[in-house]
Amino acid sequence: MVKKVDHIGIAVKNLDETLKFYEEILGLKAAGKEVVDEQKVTVAFLPIGDTEVELLESTTEDGAIAKFIAKNGEGVQHIAYKVDNIEEAIAEMKKKGIRMIDEKPRYGAGGAKIAFCHPKSTYGVLLELCQRD
Ligand code: ZN
Repeated sequence: MVKKVDHIGIAVKNLDETLKFYEEILGLKAAGKEVVDEQKVTVAFLPIGDTEVELLESTTEDGAIAKFIAKNGEGVQHIAYKVDNIEEAIAEMKKKGIRMIDEKPRYGAGGAKIAFCHPKSTYGVLLELCQRD
């Protein structure tokens, strides 16, 4: 069902400061920044090989990323797997008894269609299904 790791989502307190590390120390280059209101985040994608690192900074005190950082500190927040057809992937997951946070695809940065699976069903990892056209 999944084709590859589309990206790794990392929760950060300060996107601009974190970008310096990824760009100046690791030598990656951000492919633009985007505010995703639906998820209350500002994101930057850094392509690396055929996958990407997604840095997420919360735009509010009560968003999922703010809550994650309050509980765990900064760090890896989710892993996104590429799927060809997200509606089919969601249906398949549900059929197999996987608890979905999103039963319908929602908007993700860069126009992707995304849906999260509950970590209780995925051995502790917040798993994102991601379809890009
Ligand atoms: Zn993501």
